[in-house]
Amino acid sequence: MIKPRIGQGYDVHRLEEGKPFWIGGILVPHTHGAIGHSDADVLIHVICDALLGAANLRDIGYHYSDQSPEFKGIDSKILLRDVAQKIRAKGYEIGNIDSVVALQRPKLMPHIENMKQCLAEVLQIPVDDISIKATTTERLGFVGREEGVEAHAVALIYSKVV
Ligand SMILES: [Zn+2]
Repeated sequence: MIKPRIGQGYDVHRLEEGKPFWIGGILVPHTHGAIGHSDADVLIHVICDALLGAANLRDIGYHYSDQSPEFKGIDSKILLRDVAQKIRAKGYEIGNIDSVVALQRPKLMPHIENMKQCLAEVLQIPVDDISIKATTTERLGFVGREEGVEAHAVALIYSKVV
C-alpha cells in the first residue's frame, strides 16, 4: 500500500531596485530583485516548505534560521537539495509539486521551462513532476504595486507502507 501525504508552502519577499532576482533557481533579468537573508528565492522557499510540511518536518526557518550567518546569502538550491535529502531520509519519495508565483513584472512565462529543468535536477525528479504557474494580481495589493513577490506550492510525497 502507498500512503500519500500532502504539504503546502507560502512565502513573500520584498522587491528592491538593483538587486539580483533569483527565482526558481535561476537569475531573471529585471530592474528589481527579491531581498532576504538567503538569495531570497521565493519559489524555492515555498517548495521547501511544502515538502517539509508533507513530511511533518517543521519549516524552512526552523532548519535554516535567518539569524544564522551560515545561511546568509546562501543559494536556495542548496537548501532545496538538503530538504529533499531530509524527505528521503524519513523514508518518503517525492510525488509531484504544483506551484504558483504572484508577480506583477516581469513576465515569468519565458523562464518557466528553465526553472522547471533546474528544480527537477536539484530534486532528482522528472521535469513532468514539477509544475510552475505565474500570475499577476491585476495591479492589486503589494504584488500589484511591485513591492513584493509571493508564491504558493503544494507537494505530494509518499511512502511505501508494507
Ligand atoms: Zn523566503
